[in-house]
Amino acid sequence: MLEKIKSLAKQYAPEFVDIRHHLHAHPELSYQEFETARFVQQKLQEFGIPFEIKATTGVIGLIKGKNPDKRTIALRADMDALPIQEENNIPYRSTREGVMHACGHDVHTTCLLGAAKILNELKDEWEGTVKLIFQPGEEKNPGGASLLIKEGVLENPRPSCIFGLHVHPGLAVGKMSFRSGKVMASADELYITIKGKGGHAASPHLCIDPILIASHLIVSLQQIVSRNNNPHNPTVLSITAIQGGSTTNVIPNEVKLKGTFRAMDEGWRFKAHDLIRQLSTNLVKSMGGEIDLLIDVGYPSVYNNEALHEIALVKAADYIGAANVEETEKRMGAEDFGYYSQQIPGCFFRLGVMNEAKGITSNVHTPTFNIDESAIETGIGMMAWLGASVKL
Ligand SMILES: [Zn+2]
Ligand SMILES: [Zn+2]
Repeated sequence: MLEKIKSLAKQYAPEFVDIRHHLHAHPELSYQEFETARFVQQKLQEFGIPFEIKATTGVIGLIKGKNPDKRTIALRADMDALPIQEENNIPYRSTREGVMHACGHDVHTTCLLGAAKILNELKDEWEGTVKLIFQPGEEKNPGGASLLIKEGVLENPRPSCIFGLHVHPGLAVGKMSFRSGKVMASADELYITIKGKGGHAASPHLCIDPILIASHLIVSLQQIVSRNNNPHNPTVLSITAIQGGSTTNVIPNEVKLKGTFRAMDEGWRFKAHDLIRQLSTNLVKSMGGEIDLLIDVGYPSVYNNEALHEIALVKAADYIGAANVEETEKRMGAEDFGYYSQQIPGCFFRLGVMNEAKGITSNVHTPTFNIDESAIETGIGMMAWLGASVKL
């Protein structure tokens, strides 16, 4: 089976490199993946794989092998692009002004389509069912994963586990990386408005200065991370925007702050929200101001199930050799894959796409991000191998 999958992945690789070029040239923003979803449906139809639509632009395929009730494995790919102007000079460069597949979701969609074709072709040779999840809106709250779960993507049939692959521009092509347990952070957005009383800057005693209050608040919020959190528990609080005032001699009425709060522990995450609320409200009030505070709760942290991790390591070693399997570093970035891994055992792993010799080193979310496309053959084959062989 492994050898068959490898040879089909090699045989089909050029076809799927073309597919990736098409997707790359036609990127769509989160929740607007209409053409991408249609393209995926067309391909599944071509392969003879039944599918249904969920969350408007999500496409859920189902491939039944022998004894389809024996087990169900879910494989997930995200499909959305980013509001970035592409700067790569390549024949398949984005044709859409200001929109680019800068996070490699074109590659993820391609790899899952390729795996689907192979799994469908070999369906008399593996047992169980594979659920293909082509997901919208990974890059934007509330996260396509949460919408698909609400619409029952993890039911009928319920998968026993789920795999998601993500390109990794810091990992050499030909390698993959995995990590057990906590692997990525939760991400919540902070929106704070501090209301004071504006006036002449020469008469601060007649004003309530929201700029001074904001300054204290920005500094004080850091004590939540440095004094309330266990130092062994990774967490980040960053205030990333401050807006208020426009000239030298006027104290403004209000200041707006934005920021992000990230955590790896769900208990600490919600305790920290309470601390942020308490401290902000009390501090601003004590200085005479008023506050509007919104914590927009985003994606949960990504947790890789230990048992599934062990299985995935063996499968990866089968496919690319143990020497090419590395450990993923922990990151404070976020992924809506966390929603799935809260519900069922999940494994979110990385596909190496870097090639220093060819100058392919740009990070994701940058205008020059690209991949070494020989990674596509590996991605297709690995997803197919997981779908055909994992038992949990
Ligand atoms: Zn991204
Ligand atoms: Zn991504």
